[in-house]
Amino acid sequence: MENQEKQVNTPLDPDQMFEELVKKIKATGHPMNLERIREAYELARDVHAPQKRKDGSPYVTHCVAAADISVDMGLDEDSIVAALLHDVIEDTDMVHEDVAKRFGTAVADIVEGVTKLTRVQYTSKEDEQMENLRKMLMAMAKDIRVILIKIADRLHNMRTMDYQTPEKQRSKSLETMEIYAPLAHRLGMQRAKWELEDRSLQYLDPAGYKEITDALESKMQDLEAFMDNMKNKIQARLDHDNVKATIFCRIKHIYSIYRKMYAQKVSIDGIFDLCAFRVIVDETHSCYDVLGIIHDMFKPVPGRFKDYISTPKPNMYQSVHTTVIGSEGIPFEVQIRTWDMHHTAEYGIAAHWKYKMGARGSQVVHSGDEDKFAWIRRLLESQQESDAQDFFHNLKIDMFADEVFVFSPKGDVINLPAGATPIDFAYSIHSDIGNRMVGAKVNGRIVTYDYVLKNGDIVEIRTSKSAPGPSRDWLNVAKSGSARTKIKQWFKKERREENVMRGRDMLESELRHNGLALDEMLDEAIISPILKRLGLTQVDDLYAAIGYGGVTATRVANRMKDEAKALKPEKRSALDKLSEAAERREIQAKKEGKAVHGILVEGLSNCLIKFSRCCTPVPGDDIAGFITRGQGVSIHRRDCANCQQLLSNAENDGRWVQVSWASVITDSYVTTITVAAKDRSGLVMDIATVLNSVNAKVRSMAAHELSGTGIVTVGLEVKNAAELKYIMGKLSSIPGIISVSRNRK
Ligand code: MN
Repeated sequence: MENQEKQVNTPLDPDQMFEELVKKIKATGHPMNLERIREAYELARDVHAPQKRKDGSPYVTHCVAAADISVDMGLDEDSIVAALLHDVIEDTDMVHEDVAKRFGTAVADIVEGVTKLTRVQYTSKEDEQMENLRKMLMAMAKDIRVILIKIADRLHNMRTMDYQTPEKQRSKSLETMEIYAPLAHRLGMQRAKWELEDRSLQYLDPAGYKEITDALESKMQDLEAFMDNMKNKIQARLDHDNVKATIFCRIKHIYSIYRKMYAQKVSIDGIFDLCAFRVIVDETHSCYDVLGIIHDMFKPVPGRFKDYISTPKPNMYQSVHTTVIGSEGIPFEVQIRTWDMHHTAEYGIAAHWKYKMGARGSQVVHSGDEDKFAWIRRLLESQQESDAQDFFHNLKIDMFADEVFVFSPKGDVINLPAGATPIDFAYSIHSDIGNRMVGAKVNGRIVTYDYVLKNGDIVEIRTSKSAPGPSRDWLNVAKSGSARTKIKQWFKKERREENVMRGRDMLESELRHNGLALDEMLDEAIISPILKRLGLTQVDDLYAAIGYGGVTATRVANRMKDEAKALKPEKRSALDKLSEAAERREIQAKKEGKAVHGILVEGLSNCLIKFSRCCTPVPGDDIAGFITRGQGVSIHRRDCANCQQLLSNAENDGRWVQVSWASVITDSYVTTITVAAKDRSGLVMDIATVLNSVNAKVRSMAAHELSGTGIVTVGLEVKNAAELKYIMGKLSSIPGIISVSRNRK
């Protein structure tokens, strides 16, 4: 490749380089504030002063080189200023604000954008991943100039890669091949793309690269003679036919030859079309005139004619391509295009700004790949509306406004809808990850589940085998439909145990309102028609359906009544039993009307009831009543330490009364439990998450540490001992839990 000799090892003089840059800017003819550009250069030179490039030159030479490439690309003044300053946030003490104060927010935003891209950790991945990573870079950039300067930066780094270690050469080249060359291609910047590819190839496959350059060198005389011959022939014919055109010919770039050799599994001698001809004309219709002439002069190779003028490539590329057989049977490709099309092909979107003045404006791209490239059309449209100087300011990249790209800890890029949260991320990896999620970290910090993910975030999900599973709130937090669907599925399937328990309670309570007992309704004759009609197989399914809300408890209770009434005479006894039971229940209910806080005290009614604070009994516990002095009856659990002590004291013998729980209880009861666990971070959060997931009514929560053991005391409001047992069971499955116990003292 030309221009590739190693840089001389004498340090470069940045001031001199900068003066060359100024000359180049002046030569473009675009009015620019050179004093502002100079100020940027001097600032960069001063703040980078302690740094040296690997070749020994002052670091700022790299900044001037990047600015120089930006001028070649035809970028605007802000871009050139930003290119000079592109490493000041990354490498020096300067921050966004410092740059903004002196050069405006536009420049500061670009510099910060370049810095962000620089910080993205890159690891080689399969194609789909790379595509997402490229999209993420675009989305992160927000302003297209960030990408263009990043490409200029990379181009210069590749040009000076010889000074790096072999490892760095390989990793940077791979990154360039997989990220930056495709980005340049996407932006239509052929020239940058070719150079990036060729320079990367040189480090990725030095032998393959050398094989091609050596072969080309040995063929060079022949190739040049061939090209001259063809060029003259074509030129003479065009002149004769009065077609004004300029002909260029070149050897194809090395990586394209390399790829062809690899794809066709041939040596370089098997590649015939090493040369490419370009015929550049003024008007679009002339392209087709030239095509006709070429096809008249040479025999076209069938299937190789492509009209990218009527159907431009998605990156705006336009040309007519054909391959023909030249003298001695050697095929060669001819690309025919107008000057406008040529500039677009060389510089991509940059060309639309660079050559806008005096150009007739380009045609809107009609791409078949509507969604993917809609943004390029938007770029073109915005260009038509705005004047040249404003062009880049309108090039905000908003094509990915409804998407966000984040990293997994392994470096995979995950594409989520904008506004997505760690919950969406977890479910996008796998349902199991979502269902077992117990916490999330973004960029190494713990975040709440409703944290809104940003482009480039590294997201890590903490999971636990004993995680309680999603909570219903997650449905409001999840942004993606697929995450919500998975959460709903979980509630339907995985949470059966709880649904069964809840459904059973609901049905039991509904029946009780009707004076019926659930146990007596579980007669095969009553239950099986109901199950059959609902398409269920067992009673637990029915409870689960009620618990999940698939069927109401009232409906099932009414069905049960109907079925019981409709029982055949031989089953009549069951119904008799039923009414007997109902009667018993009525008597009981009357009696229980006298219950206070769900407690029946033998021989006493409407007495003052107090639940002892030491053992906080709940319905279902074995209890004893103790007549206190002036404070009514105090209710203890029988296994309470205080209770045991009171019982053992003979003086108290006359003060004990028989107490029992009423069968209908509407109150809730406050009780306290203690959770002991190996002390670790996130323990309290895990406990809170589990409690939340089972909809526990938490009255209080306190944590302290006791010689390496975390002690968490939780005050809960429950209906009965069964509910409490269920909650305690769930808590004991949290990792690191030593015990979950009720307080007895
Ligand atoms: Mn740089």
